[in-house]
Amino acid sequence: MSTARPLGIDDLPIREELRGKSPYGAPQLDVPVRLNTNENPYPLPEPLVERIAERVREAARTLNRYPDRDAVELRTELARYLTRTGGHPVQAAGVWAANGSNEVIQQLLQTFGGPGRTAIGFEPSYSMHSLIARGTGTAWISGPRNADFTIDVESAEKAIAENLPDVVFITSPNNPTGTAVEAETVLALHDAAQAAKPSMVVIDEAYVEFSHGDSLLSLLEGRPNLVVSRTMSKAFGAAGLRLGYLAADPAVVDAVQLVRLPYHLSAVTQATALAALEHTDTLLGYVDQLKRERDRVVGALREAGYEVTASDANFIQFGRFEDSHRVWQQILDRGVLVRDNGVPGWLRVTAGTPAENDAFLDAVGELKKEHRA
Ligand SMILES: *Cc1c(COP(=O)(O)O)cnc(C)c1O
Repeated sequence: MSTARPLGIDDLPIREELRGKSPYGAPQLDVPVRLNTNENPYPLPEPLVERIAERVREAARTLNRYPDRDAVELRTELARYLTRTGGHPVQAAGVWAANGSNEVIQQLLQTFGGPGRTAIGFEPSYSMHSLIARGTGTAWISGPRNADFTIDVESAEKAIAENLPDVVFITSPNNPTGTAVEAETVLALHDAAQAAKPSMVVIDEAYVEFSHGDSLLSLLEGRPNLVVSRTMSKAFGAAGLRLGYLAADPAVVDAVQLVRLPYHLSAVTQATALAALEHTDTLLGYVDQLKRERDRVVGALREAGYEVTASDANFIQFGRFEDSHRVWQQILDRGVLVRDNGVPGWLRVTAGTPAENDAFLDAVGELKKEHRA
């Protein structure tokens, strides 16, 4: 009898480019204060929970049928939300929704990327862009950023001219740095990306509701190769819902329907998202509170002598540390989980409730004393 060792991934005939890779995931540890995944700390308000239950009950009565494949009611309400808050009129025909903006991005790469094609992002940035590129067989190019984490327009234009990417990712505000991207920068990169051949430019606005400035939605006007992706995971406090969406020319919406799975968005998801959109004003009230807390934490960190990257998101990049992973562990030892994104010298903390932020500031305050001693 042989004692068979358990099979590993690499024992399977997987695609070569997946060999030896690890899945995406922030370590989720059971600690009192978790400020590592940019979630909204506020649970949905009770009246909204009731409304979700009502709408889901209604949807349950027709679960024997497939859901609305085109999610028309939901896309109409998302368009209304974008029009009201984004400073630019958006039609339902120019909105598409999926299970989280990660699925939106996957559908975009399945449509405009894929084998033999290339995507570029300016790093450090959201690592899922490159991971979804890999998953869809799209080659990935890591473009440069300045030392202050803004995009260096000249070298970005050069990288685009040299590599002729089919898809350009611009994350604004950027994760993990919190940096917003100027409209002029987006326009310069968009134009560079159209110079040699038409390419798609995807602006990932997952955090835009937390920004000091405006959404880049108005840039969509007259630019059919531009896409803005959004999510209900952060500002709407609904990461568990899995609802992301995009705004673009209606032709882009038609194009992604070539790759979307039929009935990809469940009736339960559509009902829940519609309920949440009925409570937009309450939810955006929490966003205002979080923005104030974010600015408070930025001020306190600077006062304590830390370097902080200007943040337009619900998180803050702070440093600089000789050994950021060691500092991550020291903060964890004090019961607070922050994120080590692997940006040398820097860590990222999500803005939480006032009590959570105080716990974080106490923890880094103690570190300061320790380092001085
Ligand atoms: C959190 C985040 C998302 C959200 O992804 P979902 O699939 O909608 O939860 C998208 N883009 C960026 C840059 C993010 O940080």
